[in-house]
Amino acid sequence: MSAGLTDDQRLIAEGVRGFVERELQPHEALVERLDTVPDDLFEELRRKAIAQGYYALNMPAEHGGGGLGAADRAVAEIEFGRVSRALGIICNRPAPILKACTGDQIETYLRPTIRGERWDCFALTEPGAGSDARALTTRACPGGGDWIVNGTKQFITMALRADFIILFAVTGIEATPRGERKRITAFLVDKASPGIEVRPLDVLSNRGMKSCVITFSDVRVPARNILGAEGGGFAVAKAWIFSGRVMLAANCVGLAERAMAIAARWANTREAFGQPIGRFQGTAFKFADMATEIHATRLMVLDAAGRMDAGTLTQREASQVNLFGSEMVGRVTDSALQVMGGMGITKEVPLERFWRDARVERVWEGTSEIHRDIISKDVLREFGR
Ligand SMILES: Cc1cc2nc3c(=O)[nH]c(=O)nc-3n(C[C@H](O)[C@H](O)[C@H](O)COP(=O)(O)OP(=O)(O)OC[C@H]3O[C@@H](n4cnc5c(N)ncnc54)[C@H](O)[C@@H]3O)c2cc1C
Repeated sequence: MSAGLTDDQRLIAEGVRGFVERELQPHEALVERLDTVPDDLFEELRRKAIAQGYYALNMPAEHGGGGLGAADRAVAEIEFGRVSRALGIICNRPAPILKACTGDQIETYLRPTIRGERWDCFALTEPGAGSDARALTTRACPGGGDWIVNGTKQFITMALRADFIILFAVTGIEATPRGERKRITAFLVDKASPGIEVRPLDVLSNRGMKSCVITFSDVRVPARNILGAEGGGFAVAKAWIFSGRVMLAANCVGLAERAMAIAARWANTREAFGQPIGRFQGTAFKFADMATEIHATRLMVLDAAGRMDAGTLTQREASQVNLFGSEMVGRVTDSALQVMGGMGITKEVPLERFWRDARVERVWEGTSEIHRDIISKDVLREFGR
């Protein structure tokens, strides 16, 4: 925990770190081994997170959430980055896009989800539509007063646990000055609806978190379950996209700090050629680079989050912090693992897990290439392209 935080933010950081170390980290090895969070453990941790005030921190206080702004939340997310996402996600609920709920949706979806009684998952990506999200082909067609959904979603995190799905589907085609474009609409879909199947995927990072394929076969969704406006799905999603990118980088800071600390302790005690390996410059300088990159990311995160609160964060800046943070945690976990030599490769210490978990950060909230594309286009536009 470093300088630059207000007194309140220090309290948030200390509180979340204590909760993470006391309640969540002790279960990491079990979750890793089982590749799932057992139901009873999940329930116990959910109850503790609610009771101790670490649940739905990002949600509006008027609906029962923690009411934290982006800067305060980033401070909390740095600390949540210190635990496997499979466990951190028990607290980090629900998807911020649910703030777009209106009317009956508030009592049916938003508030019960904030209370921890219901579980959401966010289903945008498809087998043929990842970075190019507009390529999605899942369709929702009007039928008997409802919408009938057909299609397949892929990589949907928490889909096994969720009891409703925030689904993006094509509801038509519209003419724009740039030609025809798909109308994409967001829906709230109850997972118990007939015609939904969920299949978990086996993935490298964050074992126990479970990303899934969801298939929809003639699934009926009531018209009142449209989130935002019909055809306005991307407008609703875009309103929250910056937040995901900044908070991802915050999580990367926490994971990187934890990896560096484990490696530093090792470097101070492990001896080779008659001295601790940390006295070899080849090892020591790794810590200079790790600490500097972590610090730079922390500053970027706090700056970006502060400007999110002020409403001045740009898309380029959100991509920059995501890109830098996700690549930083890859470098830091790799260096930390290298410092531990053969032991780093074993499951006796968590470094190999941190290294695996870090890998997805360069993919899932927009790939590094997509962020470079956004940033470079903006830079070149600024200078007159
Ligand atoms: C573990 C995990 C959990 C996830 N959870 C969710 C979830 O809960 N909900 C959800 O909706 N999605 C989720 N995703 C999906 C994630 O958002 C996508 O994986 C991501 O957007 C990339 O899409 P893709 O995997 O289809 O890769 P592609 O888009 O197929 O990209 C493949 C490669 O091509 C490159 N590429 C593509 N376009 C360009 C371009 N214009 N310029 C340069 N290079 C390019 C990419 O950078 C990448 O290297 C998850 C993914 C993972 C791995």
